[in-house]
Amino acid sequence: MSQKLDKLDSNGSSCTNSSSMRTRVGNYELGRTLGSGNFAKVKLARNLDTGKQVAIKILEKNKIVKDKMTDQIKREVSTMKLVKHPNIVELYEVMASKSKIYFVLEYVTEGELFSKIARRGKLKEEDALAYFQQLIDAVDYCHSRGVYHRDLKPENLLLDTNGTLKISDFGLSALPQHFREDGLLHTACGTPNYVAPEIIVDKGYDGAKVDIWSCGVILFVLMAGYLPFNDSNLMAMYKKIYKAEFSFPEWFSPGAKRLITRVLTPNPKHRINVSQILEDPWFKKGYKPEKHAFFQKVKLDDVEAVFDDESIDQLAIEQQEFKIPRPTFLNAFELISFNKGLNLSSLFEKEKEVKLETRFTSKCSAPEIISKMEETAKPLGFYIQKRDYKMKFQGKKIGRKGHLSIATEVFEVTPSLFLVEVRKSSGDTLEYQKFYHKFSTSLKDIMWTTEDMNVVA
Ligand code: ATP
Ligand code: MG
Repeated sequence: MSQKLDKLDSNGSSCTNSSSMRTRVGNYELGRTLGSGNFAKVKLARNLDTGKQVAIKILEKNKIVKDKMTDQIKREVSTMKLVKHPNIVELYEVMASKSKIYFVLEYVTEGELFSKIARRGKLKEEDALAYFQQLIDAVDYCHSRGVYHRDLKPENLLLDTNGTLKISDFGLSALPQHFREDGLLHTACGTPNYVAPEIIVDKGYDGAKVDIWSCGVILFVLMAGYLPFNDSNLMAMYKKIYKAEFSFPEWFSPGAKRLITRVLTPNPKHRINVSQILEDPWFKKGYKPEKHAFFQKVKLDDVEAVFDDESIDQLAIEQQEFKIPRPTFLNAFELISFNKGLNLSSLFEKEKEVKLETRFTSKCSAPEIISKMEETAKPLGFYIQKRDYKMKFQGKKIGRKGHLSIATEVFEVTPSLFLVEVRKSSGDTLEYQKFYHKFSTSLKDIMWTTEDMNVVA
């Protein structure tokens, strides 16, 4: 059994799906990729019993802690399964195969908070404060239960349909990192802009303190529209972080400045803690502590099993049927979910904003679309990787946040209509927006639009 599983796994969970060719993991049918980070890929999926949509985060085991999972990670993942908080992405279930771990998560439909800033610029102080209050509420809730985030950054702040903040990856970010004997985390793999000074100097760190620091950077970005610590030279940026060298824009109120200064204090011993933040007069403005958080009665045998190497063979796993390379077929259900959850009204609304994820429709054949996109991306300075109806564009030049990398996929809607998804996988958002503008302008002749099909434009 285990051999068979491994074989299936080595095909990767990202194989092309079609209506007759679905990838299943446990009781879930995997759909399109929602995003990918440094260590994982997140896919939309559907519970085959209830039809409910979920997000499944897939980690390759060889990218995570080599030896035995530490007890601390296991404890944090268990806690995350037990807790429920309106500002925390819920963890429903954990599964594993020989080579992968699957975290079944609440699906958050409205994307990353940062895309909002990228589109509309800085927020009003009161709006930024409202997000910061939700952030601190969730952080306080987890910290008081011994769970730390350690990688708070914009990509982990998502928005649901009501505009509520949902934090993802609580308790999970430590997975690809390393604990040393002192029990402190040592390897920094977070976005440098958001990491605390003690991580940079690799002294080992206290999860609670580094989370507070990142919350301070996030608050600054929300209110300023730019980062407090930034420099194209990495060493120069680390130096700025280490000394907490930043200046406030003139529109920050004195109360906000006072709190941010206490949060962005380089020495973790002198940095403000969560309970002091909750007492801060500026923070308290309009703050309503969340009352709906509670512990759920759930079984933890899945976490036990995943973190115990012996029992993995009996666990769940990926099944794939037929493998004929053709574009993934989108049924009506998926077409709708592609466009903002299940909100049908948005199907017919025009959306002018440029998103980090952008789609267009085409009536050309799938191979034609692929070759046209390849022809267009190459002269824009990208290396191209092709696999069936998916392509990756890797920027040749180093940009503001490393190489820009873009993932694309062609989906079949009907035999004569295709939907093309273009998504930033890594790199700077503004550089991506510039790229997409040039790319889409050159592809005008293969794009198909009618009044109604703004659906996916
Ligand atoms: P890192 O690799 O450092 O964790 P990351 O947070 O960007 O970086 P992932 O956690 O793998 O990487 O997530 C990748 C992307 O998938 C996120 O940036 C987000 O846009 C999307 N995503 C993650 N979780 C969900 C979810 N529960 N619902 C909807 N989208 C999600
Ligand atoms: Mg994440």
